Amino acid sequence: MTAAVDAPDLTDLTIGRVRRHMGSGRASLGEMLGRVVEVSSAGAWVTAADGRRYLDFGGYGVFILGHRHPTVVAEVRRQLDQHPLATRVFLEPVSARAAEALAEVAPDGLDQVHFVNSGTEATEAAIKLARAHGRTELIAVDGGFHGKSMGALSIIGNPLYQRPFGPLLPGVTQVPFGDLPALRSALSAAAGRACLVLEPVLGEGGALPAPEGYLRGAAEACREFGALLVADEIQTGLGRLGRWWGMDAEAVVPDIMLVGKGLSGGVIPVAAMVTGAELYQPFGRDPFLHSSTFGASPIASAAAIGALRAIKEEDAVAKAASLGTRLLILLHEAHRRHLPGQVAEVRGRGLLLGIEYAAAGLAGDVALELMSRGVLVNHSLNAADVLRLTPPAILADPEVDFFAQVLDDALAAVATRHQPRS
Ligand code: PLP
Repeated sequence: MTAAVDAPDLTDLTIGRVRRHMGSGRASLGEMLGRVVEVSSAGAWVTAADGRRYLDFGGYGVFILGHRHPTVVAEVRRQLDQHPLATRVFLEPVSARAAEALAEVAPDGLDQVHFVNSGTEATEAAIKLARAHGRTELIAVDGGFHGKSMGALSIIGNPLYQRPFGPLLPGVTQVPFGDLPALRSALSAAAGRACLVLEPVLGEGGALPAPEGYLRGAAEACREFGALLVADEIQTGLGRLGRWWGMDAEAVVPDIMLVGKGLSGGVIPVAAMVTGAELYQPFGRDPFLHSSTFGASPIASAAAIGALRAIKEEDAVAKAASLGTRLLILLHEAHRRHLPGQVAEVRGRGLLLGIEYAAAGLAGDVALELMSRGVLVNHSLNAADVLRLTPPAILADPEVDFFAQVLDDALAAVATRHQPRS
C-alpha cells in the first residue's frame, strides 16, 4: 500500500491517539493546522502522511542543516551500531571529541563543555553554575525566552506560561530589551550578585535584534557591576544569524554560552552549556554536582560532531548570511506589494526572520495560508503578532523560488480579506 492510500487512516488514527493520550489541545491545534501528520523528512522538506510536502521554514530553529543531513546521519548511524548510550561509569571518547569540537568553534576562552539534552537544561545548568559563584540575582529581558523548566521559566517574563506554576525562583528582575540604562540600574542594584541571561536576537520574542551597541554595553555593564553574562545562543548560535554566534556581532565574549537546537544536526536532541575553566570549576571538579543520566550520551555527541562538521563543510554560516539577505528583501517586497500599511516591521538577522503585523490575527492568517500552500512557518511564543521564519542554510535556488511564489500567493489571498488601513 502506498503512503497516500494509508493516509486517511494514519491521519485519523494519529489525531485520535493524540486526543486520547497526549492532549485534546494538541489534537485540536493539529486539526486547525490542516490535519497534517508528518511522517518523513529530507533536506529542507517534510513529508506528510498524505504525500504532501512542506518546505520547512519553521521547526523552531532546529534545522539549520535541514533534516537528516547525510553527515550527521552517518555519524549517528555509526554510533548506533557501536555504542549509543554509555554506562557513565567509565570514560567515553565520543562525548570527549564532541566537547573538543564545540570548544574549537566557541568564542575564545570558552573551552569547558557541559552537555545536556535540551535547551532548557542548558539554562538550568547556567543558573546553577551562576549560583555556585554567588550570583543569585537573575536579570533577564522582557520578551526573552530560555525554556520552560522551573529555573528557565522564572526568567522568561511571560505570565501566560508562568502563572499556573508559581512560586517561581526568587530574585529575578526583568528589564526592557534594548534599554541599557534600565539594565545598568538593575545590575548596579545587585552588584556582585547578579547574572544576566540574554539572547543577542530575541527568537521567541519575535526575531527581534538587539539595538546597536546594546550587547557591548550589556557586557561592559556586567563587568563593571561584577555580574556574569550568560549568552543564550540556543536559537541564534551555530550560524543561524550568519555568524557563528550572535554575540559576535559586537565582539562580545560572554562568561557562559548556551547552545542547543542546531547542535542536534536535526537528528538527535543535544544542547550544551559552554564556559571558561575558572567558572566551570564547581562542575569540573565534581562530576556529580550537576549531572543527568542521558547527558553527554555517545549518540547525541555523535550528532553534535556531525552537525559541527557539516556546518563547516556546508559553509552554512556564510550561506545563512547571504540567504538571509535575499529572503529579507523578498519578504519586504512581497509585503509591500500585498499588505501595504499592515506590516509594522520586516526584520531579522541571517536566517532568523520575523514579520511583525500591524493588525491582530494577521500573523496567524498568513501562517495558515503559507502552510496550506506547502511552506511550514512558526509563530513566536512571546510575540503573537510576529510570524517567524527559520529556514535552513542548505536551501537551493529552486526552493527559494518556491518560497517566493508561495509567499506571493499566500499574501495575495490574505490581502483579499484584509483591507489596508486608511
Ligand atoms: N533558549 C532559547 C533562546 C530558545 O529559543 C529555546 C527554545 O525555543 C530554549 C532556550 C529552550 O530550548 P528547549 O525547547 O530545547 O528546552
